[in-house]
Amino acid sequence: MDSSYTPAQAELKWRASELAKHIMPYEQHCDEHEGLPDEVLAELAGHVLELRLNAINMPAEWGGQGLCVLDQVLVQEELGQLTNALWDVVWRPANALRAADRAQVERYVRPAVRGERRDCYAVTEEGAGSDFTGIRTVAVPDGEGFRISGQKWFVTVGDTADFLIVMAGVGPEREPTLFLVDRDTPGVRVERTPRYMHAFVYKHPIFTLEDVAVGPEAVLGDVGTGAELTREWFVEERLMIAARAAGAAERALSEASEWARTRRQFGRPLIDNQMIQAMLADAAMDIVTMRALTYQVAAECDAGMPRKLVHAKAAMAKTVASEAAGRVVDRAVQIFGGRGYMREYPVERLYRDIRVDRIWEGTSEIQRLIVSNEISKRGIQGLVRPWPLPAP
Ligand SMILES: Cc1cc2nc3c(=O)[nH]c(=O)nc-3n(C[C@H](O)[C@H](O)[C@H](O)COP(=O)(O)OP(=O)(O)OC[C@H]3O[C@@H](n4cnc5c(N)ncnc54)[C@H](O)[C@@H]3O)c2cc1C
Repeated sequence: MDSSYTPAQAELKWRASELAKHIMPYEQHCDEHEGLPDEVLAELAGHVLELRLNAINMPAEWGGQGLCVLDQVLVQEELGQLTNALWDVVWRPANALRAADRAQVERYVRPAVRGERRDCYAVTEEGAGSDFTGIRTVAVPDGEGFRISGQKWFVTVGDTADFLIVMAGVGPEREPTLFLVDRDTPGVRVERTPRYMHAFVYKHPIFTLEDVAVGPEAVLGDVGTGAELTREWFVEERLMIAARAAGAAERALSEASEWARTRRQFGRPLIDNQMIQAMLADAAMDIVTMRALTYQVAAECDAGMPRKLVHAKAAMAKTVASEAAGRVVDRAVQIFGGRGYMREYPVERLYRDIRVDRIWEGTSEIQRLIVSNEISKRGIQGLVRPWPLPAP
């Protein structure tokens, strides 16, 4: 087992770290204004392209970087150091778009890879969150295509995106199906844009779709494959959340340890106090643990681990990393004292930013259900040991 970076991985991490350093100075502006001006976003987009970090998850033949999951993790952990979810200016179109047909690739995916179009993923509804089988949005066949009606909540990047990937139920069986819907299609409107705990670089509006007419060419994949495509998206996205959580935690520890070395109280640096030392040590141990697990599961995913097992292991990585990052950032706030509560300090922003990682893309409770379901169906071996298991 070799846990060192290859030269190519080290170079990739260097590029991601350069990009993070370039974006970092905009954090406070983003926090104060809940976003960045268009000209800044355009400048940052140019930098993303220059460093070849656009669409890292999309196939190279479509213009993406075609990175394996482990390499994507290496990029995301660098970008995860950024506050205000500024990692999201480095666009990574939804994995479900890999199911696009030739015409959809030309119309949506290639422009999305180049950063000329932006997608958002609209599954959750007011009455359907953890249990997305409860969605009420319907797509009724009308002879020419479909008429979509419903409402979608929490649509991340919905303010900027120019097309939505909408999950709707088709036919009497309400077969879950994904549709590509241009945002300017008649009947698509933003109902309202709630504010959230974090000051995310983009927003999460609520969309209403009222009798939105789309042709048959709007179906992504096939009718009835929406749940499957969404689950595929979850696996990789949960690993990316774990990676970014590790990055956020590392930034918090780096800020807190520097502060503990330089801040003096009672005539000595904070770091000379054992209670502070314990918090720093616990934070370091949390970070190495979450990072090791995330790398392991990403590598197993690349090695072709069976999908059900990778689904459960990605759930473990997301839960372990998001909960550990929450502890690390909380300690960092404590070490900063009153300044840890001031918005101009990165640890305060990380404290707000990191909380959602235990909620979105499936809550910690739902991840635990996925893990325990795997245990009850196939036992613990695959889960608790690296894959592939040695032959008996
Ligand atoms: C900032 C933000 C951005 C988001 N972006 C998107 C997006 O882009 N697209 C999108 O489609 N969705 C998005 N979401 C929605 C997100 O995925 C859901 O909020 C999440 O899945 C939880 O659903 P819910 O909020 O309806 O909570 P609920 O499902 O109502 O759950 C409430 C609580 O009950 C618990 N619970 C539920 N069922 C069980 C159970 N069986 N056993 C034990 N506990 C249970 C949950 O863990 C949670 O603690 C976003 C959410 C947020 C906050």
